[in-house]
Amino acid sequence: PDAITVQELANRMAEKGADLVKALFKLGMMVTVNQTIDHDTAELLVEEFGHNIQRVSESDVDIDTSTDVDAEESLKVRPPVVTIMGHVDHGKTSLLDALRGTDVVRGEAGGITQHIGAYQIKTKGGDLVTFLDTPGHEAFTEMRMRGANVTDIVILVVAADDGIMPQTIEAINHTKAAGVPMIVAITKADKHEANPQKIRERLLEHEIVVEQMSGDVQDVEVSAKTGQGLDELIEKILLQAELLELKANPDRAAEATVIEAKLDKGKGPLATVLVTRGTLKVGDILVVGTHSGRVRAMLDDKGRQVKEAPPSLPVEVLGLGGVPMAGDTLTVVESEARAREVAAYRQEQATAKRTTQAPASIENMFSALA
Ligand code: GDP
Ligand code: MG
Repeated sequence: PDAITVQELANRMAEKGADLVKALFKLGMMVTVNQTIDHDTAELLVEEFGHNIQRVSESDVDIDTSTDVDAEESLKVRPPVVTIMGHVDHGKTSLLDALRGTDVVRGEAGGITQHIGAYQIKTKGGDLVTFLDTPGHEAFTEMRMRGANVTDIVILVVAADDGIMPQTIEAINHTKAAGVPMIVAITKADKHEANPQKIRERLLEHEIVVEQMSGDVQDVEVSAKTGQGLDELIEKILLQAELLELKANPDRAAEATVIEAKLDKGKGPLATVLVTRGTLKVGDILVVGTHSGRVRAMLDDKGRQVKEAPPSLPVEVLGLGGVPMAGDTLTVVESEARAREVAAYRQEQATAKRTTQAPASIENMFSALA
Protein backbone atom coordinates (compact mmCIF):
# COMPACT_ATOMS: atom_id res chain seq x y z
CA PRO A 1 0.00 0.00 0.00
CA ASP A 2 1.07 3.56 -0.70
CA ALA A 3 -1.03 5.32 1.89
CA ILE A 4 -1.88 4.85 5.51
CA THR A 5 -4.19 6.70 7.88
CA VAL A 6 -2.59 8.70 10.65
CA GLN A 7 -4.38 6.57 13.23
CA GLU A 8 -3.24 3.34 11.64
CA LEU A 9 0.34 4.56 11.57
CA ALA A 10 0.01 5.70 15.19
CA ASN A 11 -1.18 2.21 16.15
CA ARG A 12 1.75 0.64 14.37
CA MET A 13 4.12 2.96 16.21
CA ALA A 14 2.38 2.57 19.58
CA GLU A 15 1.96 6.35 19.69
CA LYS A 16 -1.10 8.51 20.22
CA GLY A 17 -2.85 9.63 17.03
CA ALA A 18 -3.00 13.14 18.46
CA ASP A 19 0.78 13.23 18.86
CA LEU A 20 1.20 12.31 15.22
CA VAL A 21 -1.25 15.04 14.21
CA LYS A 22 0.80 17.49 16.29
CA ALA A 23 4.03 16.35 14.66
CA LEU A 24 2.44 16.69 11.23
CA PHE A 25 1.29 20.19 12.13
CA LYS A 26 4.90 21.10 12.94
CA LEU A 27 5.84 19.74 9.52
CA GLY A 28 3.27 22.12 8.06
CA MET A 29 0.46 19.64 7.44
CA MET A 30 -3.07 19.99 8.69
CA VAL A 31 -4.57 16.51 8.88
CA THR A 32 -6.88 14.59 11.17
CA VAL A 33 -6.25 11.10 12.50
CA ASN A 34 -8.63 9.59 9.95
CA GLN A 35 -6.92 11.10 6.92
CA THR A 36 -4.40 9.19 4.92
CA ILE A 37 -0.84 10.35 4.39
CA ASP A 38 1.57 9.21 1.73
CA HIS A 39 4.62 7.03 2.03
CA ASP A 40 7.13 9.90 2.23
CA THR A 41 5.19 11.69 4.92
CA ALA A 42 4.84 8.50 6.90
CA GLU A 43 8.57 8.03 6.63
CA LEU A 44 9.17 11.52 7.98
CA LEU A 45 6.92 10.78 10.93
CA VAL A 46 8.56 7.47 11.56
CA GLU A 47 11.90 9.27 11.69
CA GLU A 48 10.44 11.74 14.19
CA PHE A 49 9.37 8.85 16.42
CA GLY A 50 12.17 6.63 15.15
CA HIS A 51 12.98 4.82 18.33
CA ASN A 52 9.64 3.09 18.36
CA ILE A 53 9.67 1.50 14.95
CA GLN A 54 11.37 -1.73 15.71
CA ARG A 55 9.30 -2.59 18.72
CA VAL A 56 6.05 -2.01 16.94
CA SER A 57 6.76 -3.86 13.75
CA GLU A 58 8.16 -6.75 15.76
CA SER A 59 4.97 -7.27 17.70
CA ASP A 60 3.04 -7.19 14.45
CA VAL A 61 5.17 -9.43 12.33
CA ASP A 62 7.18 -11.53 14.70
CA ILE A 63 6.13 -14.10 17.23
CA ASP A 64 6.18 -13.05 20.84
CA THR A 65 5.67 -16.14 22.94
CA SER A 66 6.81 -14.57 26.20
CA THR A 67 3.33 -13.19 26.85
CA ASP A 68 1.64 -16.46 26.03
CA VAL A 69 1.72 -18.31 29.32
CA ASP A 70 0.27 -21.79 29.76
CA ALA A 71 -2.50 -22.20 32.30
CA GLU A 72 -1.46 -24.00 35.48
CA GLU A 73 -3.93 -26.86 34.87
CA SER A 74 -2.46 -27.54 31.42
CA LEU A 75 1.00 -28.27 32.85
CA LYS A 76 2.32 -31.81 33.13
CA VAL A 77 5.55 -33.11 34.65
CA ARG A 78 8.39 -33.21 32.13
CA PRO A 79 11.82 -34.89 32.28
CA PRO A 80 14.78 -32.84 33.54
CA VAL A 81 17.41 -31.55 31.11
CA VAL A 82 20.93 -32.07 32.42
CA THR A 83 24.25 -30.56 31.27
CA ILE A 84 27.61 -31.95 32.33
CA MET A 85 30.42 -29.46 32.92
CA GLY A 86 33.94 -29.60 34.28
CA HIS A 87 37.62 -29.39 33.47
CA VAL A 88 39.07 -31.02 30.37
CA ASP A 89 39.96 -34.69 30.88
CA HIS A 90 37.99 -34.91 34.11
CA GLY A 91 35.68 -37.43 32.49
CA LYS A 92 32.69 -35.56 31.01
CA THR A 93 32.50 -37.56 27.80
CA SER A 94 33.11 -40.85 29.60
CA LEU A 95 30.34 -40.07 32.08
CA LEU A 96 27.91 -39.12 29.31
CA ASP A 97 28.68 -42.40 27.56
CA ALA A 98 28.33 -44.40 30.77
CA LEU A 99 24.99 -42.76 31.54
CA ARG A 100 23.80 -43.43 28.00
CA GLY A 101 24.68 -47.05 28.63
CA THR A 102 22.19 -47.20 31.52
CA ASP A 103 19.27 -46.51 29.15
CA VAL A 104 16.90 -49.50 29.36
CA VAL A 105 15.35 -48.64 25.97
CA ARG A 106 18.72 -48.59 24.27
CA GLY A 107 19.43 -51.96 25.81
CA GLU A 108 16.29 -53.39 24.25
CA ALA A 109 16.78 -51.78 20.85
CA GLY A 110 20.31 -53.08 20.48
CA GLY A 111 21.69 -49.59 20.60
CA ILE A 112 22.61 -47.82 17.41
CA THR A 113 23.59 -44.49 18.87
CA GLN A 114 23.00 -41.34 16.89
CA HIS A 115 25.08 -38.41 18.01
CA ILE A 116 22.54 -35.65 17.82
CA GLY A 117 23.77 -33.33 20.57
CA ALA A 118 21.40 -34.61 23.21
CA TYR A 119 19.93 -37.89 24.33
CA GLN A 120 17.27 -39.19 26.65
CA ILE A 121 17.47 -42.25 28.84
CA LYS A 122 14.75 -44.28 30.49
CA THR A 123 15.85 -45.37 33.95
CA LYS A 124 15.19 -48.76 35.49
CA GLY A 125 12.37 -47.09 37.43
CA GLY A 126 10.82 -45.83 34.19
CA ASP A 127 11.74 -42.18 34.66
CA LEU A 128 13.12 -40.16 31.76
CA VAL A 129 16.21 -37.94 31.92
CA THR A 130 17.57 -35.83 29.07
CA PHE A 131 21.28 -35.12 28.77
CA LEU A 132 22.79 -32.44 26.58
CA ASP A 133 25.60 -34.21 24.81
CA THR A 134 27.55 -31.02 24.20
CA PRO A 135 29.69 -30.75 27.29
CA GLY A 136 31.58 -27.56 27.70
CA HIS A 137 30.98 -24.12 29.00
CA GLU A 138 30.97 -22.50 25.62
CA ALA A 139 27.82 -24.27 24.49
CA PHE A 140 26.17 -23.52 27.82
CA THR A 141 27.20 -19.88 27.89
CA GLU A 142 26.45 -19.29 24.23
CA MET A 143 22.96 -20.71 24.63
CA ARG A 144 22.39 -18.63 27.72
CA MET A 145 23.60 -15.47 26.01
CA ARG A 146 21.05 -16.11 23.31
CA GLY A 147 18.33 -16.36 25.93
CA ALA A 148 17.98 -20.12 25.77
CA ASN A 149 17.97 -21.55 29.25
CA VAL A 150 17.30 -25.18 28.52
CA THR A 151 19.43 -26.69 31.29
CA ASP A 152 17.58 -27.56 34.49
CA ILE A 153 20.44 -29.22 36.35
CA VAL A 154 24.23 -29.03 35.98
CA ILE A 155 26.45 -31.95 36.87
CA LEU A 156 29.82 -30.59 37.89
CA VAL A 157 32.45 -33.18 37.12
CA VAL A 158 35.67 -33.14 39.18
CA ALA A 159 38.23 -35.91 38.83
CA ALA A 160 38.98 -37.61 42.14
CA ASP A 161 42.66 -37.92 41.21
CA ASP A 162 43.02 -34.25 40.32
CA GLY A 163 41.61 -31.10 41.86
CA ILE A 164 39.68 -27.90 41.25
CA MET A 165 41.06 -26.66 37.93
CA PRO A 166 40.48 -23.42 35.96
CA GLN A 167 37.59 -24.83 33.93
CA THR A 168 36.07 -26.29 37.09
CA ILE A 169 35.94 -22.78 38.50
CA GLU A 170 34.52 -21.45 35.24
CA ALA A 171 31.83 -24.10 35.31
CA ILE A 172 30.98 -23.21 38.91
CA ASN A 173 30.69 -19.53 37.98
CA HIS A 174 28.53 -20.17 34.92
CA THR A 175 26.24 -22.42 36.90
CA LYS A 176 25.87 -19.90 39.68
CA ALA A 177 25.23 -17.09 37.20
CA ALA A 178 22.53 -19.16 35.54
CA GLY A 179 20.93 -19.96 38.88
CA VAL A 180 20.82 -23.64 37.96
CA PRO A 181 21.14 -26.25 40.73
CA MET A 182 24.29 -28.34 40.71
CA ILE A 183 25.13 -31.92 41.53
CA VAL A 184 28.81 -32.70 42.07
CA ALA A 185 30.05 -35.90 40.44
CA ILE A 186 33.48 -36.90 41.68
CA THR A 187 34.72 -38.98 38.76
CA LYS A 188 37.40 -41.63 38.34
CA ALA A 189 36.57 -42.97 41.80
CA ASP A 190 37.99 -46.34 40.73
CA LYS A 191 41.53 -45.00 40.48
CA HIS A 192 43.77 -45.82 43.39
CA GLU A 193 45.10 -42.25 43.48
CA ALA A 194 41.51 -41.07 43.96
CA ASN A 195 40.97 -38.76 46.90
CA PRO A 196 37.32 -37.68 46.87
CA GLN A 197 37.50 -36.12 50.33
CA LYS A 198 40.17 -33.69 49.13
CA ILE A 199 37.81 -32.59 46.32
CA ARG A 200 34.98 -31.96 48.77
CA GLU A 201 37.25 -29.84 50.94
CA ARG A 202 38.58 -27.86 47.99
CA LEU A 203 35.03 -27.13 46.84
CA LEU A 204 34.43 -25.31 50.14
CA GLU A 205 36.84 -22.63 48.94
CA HIS A 206 34.39 -21.97 46.13
CA GLU A 207 31.39 -21.87 48.43
CA ILE A 208 30.16 -25.26 47.40
CA VAL A 209 29.27 -27.24 50.47
CA VAL A 210 28.34 -30.76 49.48
CA GLU A 211 26.08 -33.07 51.48
CA GLN A 212 29.02 -35.08 52.79
CA MET A 213 30.29 -31.83 54.30
CA SER A 214 26.83 -31.15 55.77
CA GLY A 215 25.86 -28.80 52.96
CA ASP A 216 22.95 -28.96 50.57
CA VAL A 217 24.70 -29.63 47.25
CA GLN A 218 24.28 -33.29 46.34
CA ASP A 219 27.51 -35.15 45.61
CA VAL A 220 28.32 -38.62 44.42
CA GLU A 221 31.44 -40.62 43.63
CA VAL A 222 31.27 -42.21 40.21
CA SER A 223 33.35 -44.27 37.85
CA ALA A 224 32.64 -44.41 34.16
CA LYS A 225 34.93 -47.42 34.08
CA THR A 226 33.26 -49.65 36.67
CA GLY A 227 29.80 -48.10 36.68
CA GLN A 228 30.12 -47.24 40.36
CA GLY A 229 27.72 -44.51 41.49
CA LEU A 230 25.80 -44.18 38.21
CA ASP A 231 22.48 -45.32 39.67
CA GLU A 232 23.03 -43.07 42.64
CA LEU A 233 23.75 -40.13 40.34
CA ILE A 234 20.53 -40.77 38.43
CA GLU A 235 18.60 -40.96 41.71
CA LYS A 236 20.03 -37.61 42.74
CA ILE A 237 19.08 -36.08 39.39
CA LEU A 238 15.51 -37.33 39.80
CA LEU A 239 15.36 -36.02 43.36
CA GLN A 240 16.57 -32.62 42.23
CA ALA A 241 14.09 -32.64 39.35
CA GLU A 242 11.26 -33.37 41.76
CA LEU A 243 12.25 -30.40 43.89
CA LEU A 244 12.26 -28.19 40.79
CA GLU A 245 8.72 -29.31 39.84
CA LEU A 246 9.55 -29.21 36.14
CA LYS A 247 6.40 -28.93 34.07
CA ALA A 248 5.27 -28.02 30.58
CA ASN A 249 2.04 -28.03 28.60
CA PRO A 250 2.32 -30.87 26.07
CA ASP A 251 -1.04 -30.10 24.40
CA ARG A 252 -0.28 -27.04 22.31
CA ALA A 253 1.69 -25.95 19.27
CA ALA A 254 5.31 -26.78 19.96
CA GLU A 255 8.21 -24.57 20.88
CA ALA A 256 11.70 -25.96 20.89
CA THR A 257 15.29 -24.77 21.26
CA VAL A 258 18.01 -25.58 18.74
CA ILE A 259 20.85 -27.49 20.40
CA GLU A 260 22.95 -27.85 17.27
CA ALA A 261 22.45 -27.66 13.53
CA LYS A 262 24.28 -28.53 10.36
CA LEU A 263 23.90 -28.93 6.64
CA ASP A 264 23.84 -32.55 5.52
CA LYS A 265 24.70 -33.21 1.88
CA GLY A 266 21.92 -35.70 1.41
CA LYS A 267 19.28 -34.64 3.91
CA GLY A 268 19.67 -30.85 3.78
CA PRO A 269 19.55 -28.69 6.91
CA LEU A 270 19.36 -30.75 10.10
CA ALA A 271 18.75 -29.40 13.57
CA THR A 272 18.72 -31.14 16.90
CA VAL A 273 16.05 -29.46 18.94
CA LEU A 274 14.78 -29.87 22.45
CA VAL A 275 11.05 -29.38 22.83
CA THR A 276 10.37 -26.89 25.62
CA ARG A 277 6.58 -26.93 25.47
CA GLY A 278 3.87 -28.41 23.31
CA THR A 279 4.36 -31.48 21.15
CA LEU A 280 6.26 -31.25 17.88
CA LYS A 281 4.69 -33.35 15.12
CA VAL A 282 5.64 -34.52 11.67
CA GLY A 283 3.95 -32.14 9.23
CA ASP A 284 4.09 -29.13 11.57
CA ILE A 285 4.82 -25.80 9.88
CA LEU A 286 7.50 -23.87 11.69
CA VAL A 287 9.80 -20.91 11.96
CA VAL A 288 13.28 -21.43 13.34
CA GLY A 289 15.58 -18.43 13.61
CA THR A 290 15.41 -16.75 10.20
CA HIS A 291 14.14 -19.86 8.39
CA SER A 292 10.75 -21.38 7.78
CA GLY A 293 10.07 -25.03 7.19
CA ARG A 294 7.88 -28.04 7.73
CA VAL A 295 8.79 -31.09 9.78
CA ARG A 296 9.43 -33.77 7.17
CA ALA A 297 10.73 -36.35 9.60
CA MET A 298 12.11 -36.60 13.11
CA LEU A 299 14.73 -38.97 14.50
CA ASP A 300 15.50 -39.63 18.14
CA ASP A 301 18.97 -40.30 19.56
CA LYS A 302 18.57 -43.99 18.80
CA GLY A 303 18.05 -43.21 15.13
CA ARG A 304 14.39 -44.17 15.28
CA GLN A 305 11.77 -42.22 13.38
CA VAL A 306 9.34 -40.50 15.73
CA LYS A 307 6.02 -38.93 14.76
CA GLU A 308 5.68 -36.80 17.87
CA ALA A 309 8.15 -35.18 20.26
CA PRO A 310 6.83 -34.15 23.70
CA PRO A 311 8.55 -31.69 26.11
CA SER A 312 12.21 -32.48 26.95
CA LEU A 313 12.60 -34.98 24.11
CA PRO A 314 15.55 -34.14 21.89
CA VAL A 315 14.99 -34.91 18.21
CA GLU A 316 16.72 -34.29 14.94
CA VAL A 317 14.40 -32.41 12.62
CA LEU A 318 14.43 -32.66 8.83
CA GLY A 319 12.65 -30.20 6.56
CA LEU A 320 14.06 -26.81 7.52
CA GLY A 321 14.56 -24.10 4.90
CA GLY A 322 18.04 -23.31 6.21
CA VAL A 323 20.52 -24.04 8.96
CA PRO A 324 19.58 -22.28 12.22
CA MET A 325 21.94 -21.39 15.06
CA ALA A 326 22.31 -23.08 18.43
CA GLY A 327 20.02 -21.31 20.85
CA ASP A 328 17.45 -20.34 18.19
CA THR A 329 13.83 -20.96 19.04
CA LEU A 330 11.71 -23.16 16.84
CA THR A 331 8.05 -22.15 16.85
CA VAL A 332 5.17 -23.97 15.20
CA VAL A 333 2.83 -21.63 13.35
CA GLU A 334 -0.59 -22.06 11.75
CA SER A 335 0.25 -21.56 8.07
CA GLU A 336 3.05 -21.52 5.55
CA ALA A 337 2.24 -17.90 4.74
CA ARG A 338 2.73 -16.97 8.37
CA ALA A 339 5.97 -18.96 8.59
CA ARG A 340 7.34 -17.22 5.50
CA GLU A 341 6.24 -13.81 6.76
CA VAL A 342 7.97 -14.22 10.11
CA ALA A 343 11.11 -15.73 8.57
CA ALA A 344 11.32 -12.93 5.98
CA TYR A 345 10.84 -10.31 8.66
CA ARG A 346 13.59 -11.82 10.80
CA GLN A 347 15.90 -12.02 7.80
CA GLU A 348 15.36 -8.32 7.14
CA GLN A 349 16.03 -7.59 10.78
CA ALA A 350 19.22 -9.63 10.74
CA THR A 351 20.42 -7.91 7.56
CA ALA A 352 19.57 -4.45 8.89
CA LYS A 353 21.44 -5.20 12.09
CA ARG A 354 24.47 -6.47 10.20
CA THR A 355 24.70 -3.63 7.72
CA THR A 356 23.70 -0.45 9.51
CA GLN A 357 22.59 -1.31 13.01
CA ALA A 358 19.72 1.00 12.06
CA PRO A 359 16.12 0.52 13.09
CA ALA A 360 13.67 -1.19 10.77
CA SER A 361 12.77 0.65 7.60
CA ILE A 362 9.48 2.13 6.67
CA GLU A 363 9.18 -0.69 4.14
CA ASN A 364 8.76 -3.16 6.99
CA MET A 365 6.04 -1.05 8.39
CA PHE A 366 4.12 -1.10 5.14
CA SER A 367 4.71 -4.75 4.45
CA ALA A 368 3.35 -5.42 7.92
CA LEU A 369 0.09 -3.89 6.76
CA ALA A 370 -0.14 -5.92 3.59
P1 GDP B 1 36.56 -35.04 29.17
O1 GDP B 1 37.65 -34.26 28.53
O2 GDP B 1 36.10 -34.36 30.45
O3 GDP B 1 35.43 -35.35 28.26
O4 GDP B 1 37.21 -36.41 29.70
P2 GDP B 1 37.13 -37.87 29.03
O5 GDP B 1 35.81 -38.49 29.30
O6 GDP B 1 37.56 -37.78 27.63
O7 GDP B 1 38.19 -38.64 29.93
C1 GDP B 1 39.55 -38.27 29.97
C2 GDP B 1 40.39 -39.49 30.31
O8 GDP B 1 40.03 -40.00 31.59
C3 GDP B 1 40.19 -40.64 29.34
O9 GDP B 1 41.44 -41.27 29.11
C4 GDP B 1 39.26 -41.59 30.07
O10 GDP B 1 39.42 -42.91 29.70
C5 GDP B 1 39.64 -41.36 31.50
N1 GDP B 1 38.50 -41.58 32.40
C6 GDP B 1 37.30 -40.97 32.34
N2 GDP B 1 36.50 -41.42 33.31
C7 GDP B 1 37.18 -42.35 33.98
C8 GDP B 1 36.88 -43.20 35.10
O11 GDP B 1 35.80 -43.16 35.70
N3 GDP B 1 37.86 -44.02 35.56
C9 GDP B 1 39.09 -44.08 34.97
N4 GDP B 1 39.98 -44.91 35.46
N5 GDP B 1 39.40 -43.31 33.90
C10 GDP B 1 38.47 -42.46 33.42
MG1 MG C 1 35.17 -34.74 26.29
